[in-house]
Parts: sequence; structure tokens; C-alpha cells
Amino acid sequence: EKKPGQTISRGHKNYDLMLNLQLGIRHSVGKHGSIIRDLRPSDFDPKEKFWTRFPPEGSKITPPHQTGEFRWKDYCPVVFRRLRELFQVDPADYMLAICGNDALRELSSPGKSGSFFYLTQDDRFIIKTVKKSEVKVLIKMLPSYYQHVCHYENSLVAKFFGVHCVKPVGGLKTRFIVMGNLCCSEYRIHRRFDLKGSSHGRTTDKPEGEIDETTTLKDLDLNYVFRLQGNWFQDLIKQIDRDCEFLEAERIMDYSLLVGLHFRDDNTGDKMGLSPFLLRTGKKDSYQNEKFMRGYRFLQAELQDRDRILSGRKPLIRLGANMPARAERVARRSDFDQYTPGGFSNLTPSPSGEVYEVVLYFGIIDILQDYDISKKLEHAYKSLQADPASISAVDPKLYSKRFRDFIGRIFVEDR
Ligand code: ATP
Ligand code: CA
Ligand code: CA
Repeated sequence: EKKPGQTISRGHKNYDLMLNLQLGIRHSVGKHGSIIRDLRPSDFDPKEKFWTRFPPEGSKITPPHQTGEFRWKDYCPVVFRRLRELFQVDPADYMLAICGNDALRELSSPGKSGSFFYLTQDDRFIIKTVKKSEVKVLIKMLPSYYQHVCHYENSLVAKFFGVHCVKPVGGLKTRFIVMGNLCCSEYRIHRRFDLKGSSHGRTTDKPEGEIDETTTLKDLDLNYVFRLQGNWFQDLIKQIDRDCEFLEAERIMDYSLLVGLHFRDDNTGDKMGLSPFLLRTGKKDSYQNEKFMRGYRFLQAELQDRDRILSGRKPLIRLGANMPARAERVARRSDFDQYTPGGFSNLTPSPSGEVYEVVLYFGIIDILQDYDISKKLEHAYKSLQADPASISAVDPKLYSKRFRDFIGRIFVEDR
């Protein structure tokens, strides 16, 4: 199996940065590990400073190390410790995953923003370098973010585990966040889609032949609708509404629904280099058979889940993680760039009616962009070339409405 990214070993240009990051995280997790008390309003205070000096020779509170002297800052460490607890991240696992030898892989810049991404070898955590403005947005929204994720156990918004800053003496500050990897699974993720609900420029720049499991596909590349079992469908729509209300209230826009897709059967080749199992042929008897099989699989998953819950473990299937679904192939009109009211009425069932059994992973990522002056300018500028409703940079209210409308079209209730 192809693991994405490049392991950062000695000689890599960001090797020192990684070592500093590991030293820093080991320090913060150890330091704040033992405090057990309720959160106070002052824990959320952005002005509380937690800079630590890491001299190479070591100090009373820091170990000696090989890189030059640097300073390290934790933002609201007590809040993030509580969040890790809430998200059931064990401190020892967390430290080991991030701070072990050769622990991190650098992904080749998956976004346009210039951020770097690091993935732990166990695939559980993603570290993303962010701009100062993004840290500001996160710290500002932290009280309501905390409330939101406490209140909605099934919230789909990105799970944040820590925010930090490294500054080598004489060097620049690097700020980064640690978050959960949405596509961490025992199943292989065959396709991933980054979906905003906008259409302008929303295609991958890779030619068809080069598209593989590591490619991030976008709105206009999406050629499936996802059929979810009734309860899950209802839960999804409700949760998306709650999450979007939260993001809208924080004036956030430009976020995406990241969808990871595992095809359950990998044996028959298809032209995308994948081999999903073709289930529905349109004949009535096979449809009956399929319905039976589907019922059987759900039953199996639910029984497994009941066992896990009874033994005090988390259920395997949660909203957005491990969800059985059926992906129906849809045809898209070729005139993508033409204006269609609502944007995506161009999803029509394909004549062949191909349906695949899949397992879905999804969540809302990149939630730290507010509608600031640069996004307003981007809106004004791109409006000259394209329909204003089709471009990503729009007011948060409009953004959220378009996003929810889109999700309401690509997910359907399976009856
Ligand atoms: P831009 O602002 O240009 O959209 P960005 O640099 O802010 O990009 P993101 O949108 O946060 O980057 O992420 C880029 C890609 O990285 C996503 O499309 C996704 O494939 C992957 N990614 C980001 N966050 C996660 C996550 N939490 N779990 C899994 N994959 C992620
Ligand atoms: Ca993004
Ligand atoms: Ca971004």
C-alpha cells in the first residue's frame, strides 16, 4: 500500500523544525498532563503567554537537544488538554504518535494556501502550519468551539488537539495546529473529495490518468451521490445545519466537506484504476438479493457496535466515520462553466445506474478563514470573471447556505 508523503529524516529541510515541534509537544503534554481541574474563563484568554525557552544545553524544565536554541509557545494549553480528553485521545498515545523516531511524514502541499502538512506514521494526526490570522480566528472562536463540540458529540467540524508556535533564535515563527486525520481508517481510502459547494475552479489539476488515492478531487470531479440509511441521513442533515450555524456565527467561510471513500469490493477493474463491486444491474431479482445483503451487512455492523458499546468501547460507526453507504454513479453535464441556477442541478443519475457498496469518512475542514478584507477583495476580483454565486469567496451566510444545499443534493436517503 502506498503511504502518502515523505518521511522526514535527517537531512530533510524541515528536519530541525520537526525535532523542535516534537520537543515542544513532549514538553506541553507532559507539563499539562497532571492538572485536573475545571476550565476557567482565563484558560481561554489569548493574552495568557506560555513561552518556553529551549537552549541546546537543556534547562531545568527542558532536555538538551541537537538543534539551535528556540522558543516554544502553547496557546490555551489547558483548554486543548480538555479537548483531547473529550475527543478520547490518550496523552501517551498522542505523545508517542507525534514524538517517536521518524514519526512524521510531510505531505506535498495538498492545499493552495502554502501550508505544510505533516502526518503521523500511525495516520491518526495531521499537523498543519497556519497563518497568524488563522491562529487568531481559532483562539477567538475557542470558547464557542469548545461549547459546540461538548454539546454535539457528532459534530463534523475538525477536531483540534493543540495550537503551538516555534521560533528559532534569529529565525521566523512557525505556527501550527494539530488535528485529527479524518481519513484515518483500517480501510483503504480509494478516493477523496474536498467539497465546498462552489464551482468556479473546483476541479483537480491532475490529468485523469494520474488520479489516484492521494489525489484530492473537488466539486466538479464528483461523480457520485451517496445513499445513506434513513437515520444516518437525518442525523447528517441535522448535524450539518448545527455545524454551519456555528461557523456562520463565527463569520467563517471557505471550509470544505472532506469525503473519503472506500469501495468495499476491489476485485473487478474499472477505468479509474479502481475495482468497485458492481451491485445493481437493474433486474428485479438481483435487487431483492441486494436488499437482503444490505440488511445483513447493517445488522452485522450494528451487532458489532453493540458489543463494543457493551464492553465500554466507542462504536465503530459514528457520523462521518466508518459509515456504510451506497455510492451511485452520476453523470455530469459537460458545460460545467455555464451558469446553472443553484450551481449543481447538473447531477443526474447515470443511465447505467451503477451502485457501489462503500464506507464513508467525512468531516468539515479548513474552518479558520473568516470573511476578511482579502476574501472580500477576492470576491470582487473573481466576480469580474465568473458568476458571483459560483466562486468560493462569498459572505459566510451565503457560503453556509450554498454548502448545505450542496450537501442536501449529494447525500440522499436510501429507502
Ligand atoms: P486552501 O486554503 O487552499 O483550500 P489549505 O492549505 O488551507 O488549502 P486545507 O484545505 O486545510 O489546506 O487542506 C488541504 C487538503 O489536505 C484537504 O483537501 C485534505 O485532502 C487534506 N486535509 C486537510 N485537513 C485534513 C484532515 N483533518 N483530515 C484529513 N485530510 C485533511
Ligand atoms: Ca481548503
Ligand atoms: Ca485554507
